[in-house]
Amino acid sequence: MATVGFIGLGNMGGPMAINLVRAGHSVTVFDLSDVACQQLADAGARVAGSAAEAAVGMDYVLSMLPAGKHVAATYLGEDGLLAQLESTTTVLDCSTIDAATARQVGEAAAALGVGFMDSPVSGGVAAAAAGTLAFMCGGSADTFEKGRLILKDMGRNIFHAGPAGAGQVAKGCNNMLLAIHMIGTCEALEMGARNGLDPKVLSEIMLASSGRNWSLEVYNPYPGVMEKSPASNGYKPGFMVDLMVKDLGLAMEIAGQCDFDNPMGQLARELYSQHQQAGNGQMDFSSILKKLQD
Ligand code: NAD
Repeated sequence: MATVGFIGLGNMGGPMAINLVRAGHSVTVFDLSDVACQQLADAGARVAGSAAEAAVGMDYVLSMLPAGKHVAATYLGEDGLLAQLESTTTVLDCSTIDAATARQVGEAAAALGVGFMDSPVSGGVAAAAAGTLAFMCGGSADTFEKGRLILKDMGRNIFHAGPAGAGQVAKGCNNMLLAIHMIGTCEALEMGARNGLDPKVLSEIMLASSGRNWSLEVYNPYPGVMEKSPASNGYKPGFMVDLMVKDLGLAMEIAGQCDFDNPMGQLARELYSQHQQAGNGQMDFSSILKKLQD
């Protein structure tokens, strides 16, 4: 069993850290929120007074923070964690952030001899609680081998995408495609419904045909087709529109860095941004159907 410092105990980090406690690891946590820390204390973790106190001397340091600026502030600079860690510590940042910051932190870690891997996840709060997340990792082969020994206690599929930053690129590609096929699925279902088809029957037809995709199969956006989908529960998230807009912004940055024109991704971002600005940021991302219906 390992010693783990866990920083960032929000909707995702909280249940992930609890799974590490349950797996028998010695977990020390830090979050700016006392409430979040208390939940982990109740689950059996030790609460530190600072990120450094949670991280220094641990086998692993994990973080699950909102955005690149939080990750950079936590790890970089003279006061940052990297400067205080020993080479025996492996750092896994599971936040969804821009690939450029992930590469920057990876390079700084390499210069100091600390193993670092960006390890963003696919799967929402339910998967974090169930320990069934997918991890997309960017780092050296050595760091990946060490990292997966602990990631396996929070997830089911652990992929080595390439060097530092590659995990964030994989996440950006995946979520851009998710947005595109969700919008496409909504369009097809609405077009069928307006022509008198039952969305449930049309879903069955497309699931057995070449239109089959994840949005249709496990996350049907049409209310009433799938009992447990957010669509059948008032579009309660699930995966919020706000987070999809964030992820599409990161995908556009990735495209921009390689001078790649991605018209479908750009349109998906525009549609989701409009949907967010209309006051739907806190709704599940499958509610984009309502925008098409309006
Ligand atoms: P959240 O806002 O619920 O949690 C973030 C936590 O980080 C908060 O508890 C906050 O207090 C803490 N924090 C912020 N700055 C800190 C600092 N400097 N030191 C210590 N703690 C700090 O967010 P979340 O939903 O848990 O998402 C975290 C990351 O996971 C994001 O990058 C998000 O894009 C990604 N993600 C979220 C989901 C989802 O469905 N929620 C799914 C996949 C990926």
